[in-house]
Amino acid sequence: MPPKVVATINSTGRQAASFIRAAAAVGWHVKAQIWKREGLVFEELAELPNVEFVEGDLTGPQRNQILSNLFAGAKIAFINTTHWGDEVAIGKACADAAKRAGIVHYVYSSMPDHSTFGQDWKALPMWSSKFAVENYVRQIGIPATFIYTGIYNNNFSSLPYPLFRMELQNDGSFVWQAPFHPDDPLPWLDAEHDVGPALLQIFKMGSSHWKGQRVTLAFEKLTPLQCCARFSRGVGRPVKYVRGPIKIAVSIPSGYREHLENLQETLGDKRAPYFGPDLEYPREGRSIWEGYRGIEEYAREVFPIEECNNGLRWMEEGTSSYTPSEHEGSVLGTDDGSRSSTRPTTPAGQAPLHISGAYTPRSHPEALQQDFFVGSC
Ligand code: NAD
Repeated sequence: MPPKVVATINSTGRQAASFIRAAAAVGWHVKAQIWKREGLVFEELAELPNVEFVEGDLTGPQRNQILSNLFAGAKIAFINTTHWGDEVAIGKACADAAKRAGIVHYVYSSMPDHSTFGQDWKALPMWSSKFAVENYVRQIGIPATFIYTGIYNNNFSSLPYPLFRMELQNDGSFVWQAPFHPDDPLPWLDAEHDVGPALLQIFKMGSSHWKGQRVTLAFEKLTPLQCCARFSRGVGRPVKYVRGPIKIAVSIPSGYREHLENLQETLGDKRAPYFGPDLEYPREGRSIWEGYRGIEEYAREVFPIEECNNGLRWMEEGTSSYTPSEHEGSVLGTDDGSRSSTRPTTPAGQAPLHISGAYTPRSHPEALQQDFFVGSC
C-alpha cells in the first residue's frame, strides 16, 4: 500500500506541527508548506522521516504555484490559516487548489463569527475570517470537516504578552488577569500535544463519517477559577485570577488590538460562550482522543521549561513553604468529570534546554523580530 499523502500549510505553527509529528510517526507522507526554512520547529520537523517541505510565502504572488505544488499527489489535507496576510484570500486559494487536486478529505481549522448569532455580539476579526473561509469551503463542495480549537494551554507566559499573561509576583506567586467572568466555562486545548493525535483519528474516520460537521477540539472545560486552581497545583505556587481589562504592554499589530477589544466586549462584558451557543465540549474531543494533556500537567511539566527557554529563572527558586489554600487547591463545581491528582512541586534548577514541542518565541524568529508572540489567541 502506498502511504497516505497529506498536505499541510503553516507547518511550523503549533497546530500543523503537532499533526505532522503524529502523521510522520505512523508513516504517512506529509507535504508541508512552510514560510521559511528557519526556527527551532522547522529544524525539528526537518529531522522527521516522511516530511517533504514546500517552501514559499502564501501572502505573496507565488501563492497559487506554491499551492498547486503542495496539493499535487495529496489525497487529504489539514489547513490552518493564520493572520499573516489576507487570511480569507489565502483560505479560499487553498480550498480552490484542494478542489482542483481532488482532495477527498479536507480538514479546516475554523472558528466562530459571534456576529452571526443574533445576540448583539461583535465578531472577533481573527476568528470571523476563518468562519468566512469555512463558508467558502462549504460552498465549493469539498468533502470537509471543520475543527474548532480551544484556548491553547501554552498561551500562558509570564512575559508581558496580552490576555494570557501569568504575571509573576514578588512573593513567587502568579496572577492571571483577563476579562472573562470567573465562573464562565472556557475550552482548553494543549495544541502541541493533542491536535496531532485527534486529527489522525478524524482522518481515519473519514469525511463520510463527519459529513461537513464542526468538531470541537477542547479537552477540558474549566472556568478561569478552576483553571487557576489546576495551574496552581501543577506549578506548585499560588495562582490568582483577576477579572479585569486586557493589559497591552507590548507593541501589537492593529488587527490584533481590534481582535482583543472585541474579545473583551463579546466574551468578557457580554459573556458570550467562546464557541458560540451551539457547540459542546469537551466530550467530543475526548471521545476522539483520550490521552490529552490537561492544564495541570502542562503547568507541572511544560510551563517551567518553556519559561526557562524564554530566559526566565523563577523556577530555580524553591517554593517549599507553599501549601495550597482551600480556594486554590480545590476545583469547585467541576462538571467535566476530570482526572484529579495531588500537588507536585515545581521543577527547580532546570538547565536551559529545548524540549521537542516546547513552543517559545525563540521557536519563531518573526516573533522576536516584531516583539510579538504570534497567535496568542
Ligand atoms: P502559530 O501561531 O504557532 O505559528 C504561526 C506560524 O506562521 C509560524 O510558524 C510562522 O513561522 C508562520 N508564518 C507563516 N507565514 C508567515 C509570514 N508571512 N510571516 C511570519 N510568519 C509566518 O500557529 P498556530 O497556533 O498553529 O495557528 C495560529 C492560528 O490559530 C491563529 O489564526 C489563531 O487565531 C488560531 N487559534 C489560536 C488559538 C490560541 O489559543 N492560541 C485558539 C484558537 C485558534
